[in-house]
Amino acid sequence: MTRLDDLAARFGTPVYVYDLDEVAAAARDLLGALPAETELFYALKANPHPDVVAALRAVPGGRCRAEISSTGELDTALACGFAGADCLYTGPGKTPGELRAAVGRGVRLFSTDSLTDVEHVGAAAREHGTTADVLLRVNSASGSATTSIRMTGTPSQFGFDAEALPAVLPALRRVGGVRLAGMHFFPLSNAQDEASLMAEFEQTIDGAARLARELDLPLRFLDIGGGFAAPYAAPGERPVYPRLRDALAAALDASLPGWRAGDPRIAFESGRHLVGTAGTLVAGVSNVKVSRGRKFVILDAGINVLGGMSGLGRLLPVSVRMDVEPTENASLVGPLCTPGDVLGREIPLPALGPGDLVTVPNAGAYGVTASLLMFLGRPAPAEVAVRGGEIVSVSRLEHHRSHMPVTGPAPARPAVLAGGHP
Ligand SMILES: *Cc1c(COP(=O)(O)O)cnc(C)c1O
Repeated sequence: MTRLDDLAARFGTPVYVYDLDEVAAAARDLLGALPAETELFYALKANPHPDVVAALRAVPGGRCRAEISSTGELDTALACGFAGADCLYTGPGKTPGELRAAVGRGVRLFSTDSLTDVEHVGAAAREHGTTADVLLRVNSASGSATTSIRMTGTPSQFGFDAEALPAVLPALRRVGGVRLAGMHFFPLSNAQDEASLMAEFEQTIDGAARLARELDLPLRFLDIGGGFAAPYAAPGERPVYPRLRDALAAALDASLPGWRAGDPRIAFESGRHLVGTAGTLVAGVSNVKVSRGRKFVILDAGINVLGGMSGLGRLLPVSVRMDVEPTENASLVGPLCTPGDVLGREIPLPALGPGDLVTVPNAGAYGVTASLLMFLGRPAPAEVAVRGGEIVSVSRLEHHRSHMPVTGPAPARPAVLAGGHP
């Protein structure tokens, strides 16, 4: 605690602190919970801080790769030591320009969500005189696990509807510049427990094998998604998955007997589980006020700093870690001029006053870059990366307006840097 106090005093609040040893430990533990023949894509959107990405790049064994969805994330991945060939490019809105940039920098694996998407990848690859591997992202007709975020079985901008694949396949097979390499499933995030996670994986593995057989689809690569959980802005431990490895191996043996020899290659994805527990947010109390009998603790960090999904109407389960016991319920709010800037409504808090610090644990995923960073124009929080108890870097994202000529051709759009420094 003293140490966080010290960092807050040196660099001001709000400040994020990322423990790179915990990032490495999370990666080691998760890779250990998965069969050794498999690989793991880190979804940069969870936290594109360059030191965090580089820590995952450095995980021994080289099984950790990068999942990116923009030119900015690609720039970050490359700057952190990943090669284009290490990247999986995903997302429902890939533009032809982004695809050209990605192919130009060596990305050869794309998850695709529609025929047009595949055509755009093919066009970008042909422009560069090459061929790209595409995975068909499949929106299955149903799912099984219990989760807070489900993205399958309903109408969606993500993926091909499984039942519509037969009709679109002939057209997909005619697209030049691409090789149909396999499938990508990402049905859920933040699974409730190991059993529901495994149930979803079993369903995915079985479904993928069946689709490949029935549709005579090539299956050299199968990304079976993720759902690995992490506590979010609340106390808690990173879950462990002691039974996953054997259960996965058994399910893969049953459906895809060549997998141990890399036919198909098997990949997983994770964002929050790898980085969530590595981050802590320290914020300062600016003011405390009472309104109609309710107490409001006003922080210098709101949804402009710890946005998560709260800016979209979902309240974070924020709670605050303290040395002192909570004594009362109060609302923890940010400095923004909107009643939506609430980090926690009527949550247990100790008596707080201006100048006090509050610490939000497990804030390493979906923090700074998932926040309404520009809203009301406050500076971005400082971000401090720590390894072995030593500070590795201190940085702050800057926002500034750059001007373009009013007339004449528009200049090339700059890549929005996802991670801070290039
Ligand atoms: C967001 C996302 C992830 C990461 O999700 P987590 O819940 O943070 O693990 C992985 N894959 C895809 C396709 C995603 O969109």
